[in-house]
Amino acid sequence: MPAHTTEPGPQPGDAAARDRLLDACFLGPYGENDALLERLVVEFLRDHVYWRRNFHPEDPPAIATDAAFAPDYRAFEARMRRELHQLSAALKKSVPFHSPRYIGHMASDLLLPGLVAQILTLPYNPNNVSEDAAPVTVDLEVEAGLQLARMVGYPHDPERDPCAFGHLTSGGTLANYQALRLALALKAFPVALRAAQVPGIALPEDDWQAFNLGPAGATALVVRWKAWLAAQTPREHRAWKARVEGERIERRGLVDFFAAHPQLKVPWVLAPVTAHYSWSKGMKLLGLGRDQLRLMPEREMRMDADALGSTLAACERARQPLLMAVGVFGTTEFGTVDPIDALVDARDAAQARGLGFSVHVDAAWGGYLSTLFRNPDGSLRPRAEVAQGFRQFPQPHVHAAAAALARTDSITIDPHKLGYLPYGAGAFLCRDHRAMALLAESADYVFHDQAPRGYRARYRNLGQFIPEGSKPGANAAAVYVTHKVLPLDHANFGRLPAQTVLSAEAFHAAAQAFAERIRAQARACVPFPPDSNLVCIALNPAGNRDIATANAFARRLHDRLRVDPGLPLQDRSFFGSVTTLRPQALGPAGMQRILDALGLAPASDGEGEDHLVILRHTLMNPYLIDRENGISYIDLYFDFLAGCVRALAEADG
Ligand SMILES: *Cc1c(COP(=O)(O)O)cnc(C)c1O
Repeated sequence: MPAHTTEPGPQPGDAAARDRLLDACFLGPYGENDALLERLVVEFLRDHVYWRRNFHPEDPPAIATDAAFAPDYRAFEARMRRELHQLSAALKKSVPFHSPRYIGHMASDLLLPGLVAQILTLPYNPNNVSEDAAPVTVDLEVEAGLQLARMVGYPHDPERDPCAFGHLTSGGTLANYQALRLALALKAFPVALRAAQVPGIALPEDDWQAFNLGPAGATALVVRWKAWLAAQTPREHRAWKARVEGERIERRGLVDFFAAHPQLKVPWVLAPVTAHYSWSKGMKLLGLGRDQLRLMPEREMRMDADALGSTLAACERARQPLLMAVGVFGTTEFGTVDPIDALVDARDAAQARGLGFSVHVDAAWGGYLSTLFRNPDGSLRPRAEVAQGFRQFPQPHVHAAAAALARTDSITIDPHKLGYLPYGAGAFLCRDHRAMALLAESADYVFHDQAPRGYRARYRNLGQFIPEGSKPGANAAAVYVTHKVLPLDHANFGRLPAQTVLSAEAFHAAAQAFAERIRAQARACVPFPPDSNLVCIALNPAGNRDIATANAFARRLHDRLRVDPGLPLQDRSFFGSVTTLRPQALGPAGMQRILDALGLAPASDGEGEDHLVILRHTLMNPYLIDRENGISYIDLYFDFLAGCVRALAEADG
C-alpha cells in the first residue's frame, strides 16, 4: 500500500473493491481481451459475408476464384499491403490513450460493445441521413437519443407529449451549434406569426413579447399553429404556410429580420468564461457574431449566479434580448460543474418578468456522469446514496446541478468522451421534440397533413433536422448497443464514471501528499477541489514570487509530459496536459488564495502575466489502480513528477 495515501479508499490489491464488470469492458491496457475482440470481429465479418451471399443466392460470384493469380490483382494486392503496413507502422506513433500512463486529454480506451458494433456495421455502410439509406441504424439513432434523454431526466415516452428528442452529431461542437440554431428558430417564430397576421391564434401583443415567449411558450405556439393550419382548406393551408415562412428569420436572414422589427436587437448568448471555444464558432457560424457571446464571470471556476442575476436585470432594463444562457456540466479544462439549478431558477424568474430565453447545458464532457445519479428505474438517487463509496463526491452543488438537468431546454453530450466510444459521436438533446419542426429543411413535408404520423416515423428522415447531411450509421449502432449492454444508470454504465471519480479522489489525496514531499524544491497545491474527474496541480519553485517564472517552471514540467512527435513514445513515462488559471474564472479572491498558497506575488496592474499555467490531469482511464498487480499508476505518476521537480530545481539551483 502506498505510504503517502492518508485517507481510506480503494487501494491496489483490494480485491473486494475490484469491479469484475470493468475487466470485460475494454480491450485492455495490455490487449488482455484480444481473443474476445478477435472472435467477435471475425464472427460478424463472416456473418456479413453470408448476408451478401444470401441476398440473391442464385447470382453466381462475379469475381472468378482464380482472379487472385492475375498479375494486376497481385500487383494491386502488393501495393495495398505495402501501404497498409506503412499506415500500421506509422500509427505506432499514436498517442497511447489506452494506457494508464495517459492522463492528458479526454481520451481513453474504447468500450468493446461500441467498438465491435461500429466495426460490424461499417461494411453495411448505412447513411443516417434518412431511412432510405439506413433502414436500421436511423431507428437506433432515435432510440439512442431517447436513452440519453432518460439519463438526464427528460421526458422520454414518444407516445406522450412532451417527449424529448436527441440525435447524434459529429461532436459536441456541432451539438452546441444545433442548440443555438433551435433556440433562434424558437425565439423568432412567434415574431414571424405576428408579422404574418395569422388570424384565429392568440398572439403576443408586440414584437418584444413575441421575442420573449421563451422556449415553452414558443413551442406551444408551434403546436397551435400546426393544428390551426391542419384545419384549413388545402389552398388556405398553402397560402398561410408560405406567408409565415416568408416572415421567418431563417428565410429573411438576420439583417432583414431585424430591420423589419426595429423593436428588437440581435440577442445575446450568455456563457461562463470557461465555456468551450465551440461557442465562439457557433456564434460566427450562425451569423449572430462573436460579440453577442457574453462571457459571464465565475467564482471558483463555476458560473457566478449573482453575476448572472445582475446581467439579466441589466438586459431587462436595456431591452436587450437573450437567446440562451449556457451552463457547463463538467468544464473541459477543470471538470467543474456550473450551478444548473440556479440557472434554471433564474430563467423561470426572468420569464415571469417577461424576459424569455433558453437554457442549454454543455455536458459534452460530464453528460455521462448523470448515470451515477440514476436508478435503473430512471428515478433520481438522493445525494447520500450517490455518495456511498466516495470521499467527497458528489458535492451538494454537483448533485443539485445533476438533478436540474431535467429542467433545461437542451443538452450536449459527447458519447466519444466519457461514453468511451469512437470519434464522430456527439449528441444533441432537446427537452420537447415539438420544437424540432422549426428546423425541418423542407417545412412542406413536416407541416403538411401527410407528414408522417408518430414520433419514430417522423424522425426517420433525420437529414431534415440535423446540421449535417450524410453521416455514419455505424456511430449510431455503436452508441445504441453500448447503452443496451450498459444501461445508463448507476448499477451498470455508472460503474465506469464511478471508477473515474474514485481515481480522481485518490489522485487528489496523492497530490496533497506529493505537495508535502517536494516542499524543499517547490510549493504545490490542488487549486480547487475537483467536482468530477479532472484534477489540476499548480506549482511554484521554492523561494520564487514571480508568476512568469512559475509558469516557465510548469511549462518545463509539461515538456516531459507532452506528446512530442520527434521522440519515441516509449521515452515518455506519463502523458499529462496543461491549462491556465485566469482571474476572470476564479474571481479576485480565488486567484489571491491560490497565489498565496504558492507564495506568489500578484501581478502588478497590467504588468507581467496574470494567469497561472497549471498541470491538468484527466482521470478517465479505468485501470489507473491495477489491483491485479498491486500497482497504482497514480502513485507512480507522483514519484515521476517529484523526480522531475527535483531535477528541474537542481538544474536551476
Ligand atoms: C469537448 C467539448 C466540446 C466540443 O466537443 P467536440 O466533440 O470536441 O466537438 C464542447 N464543450 C465541452 C464542455 C467539451 O468538453
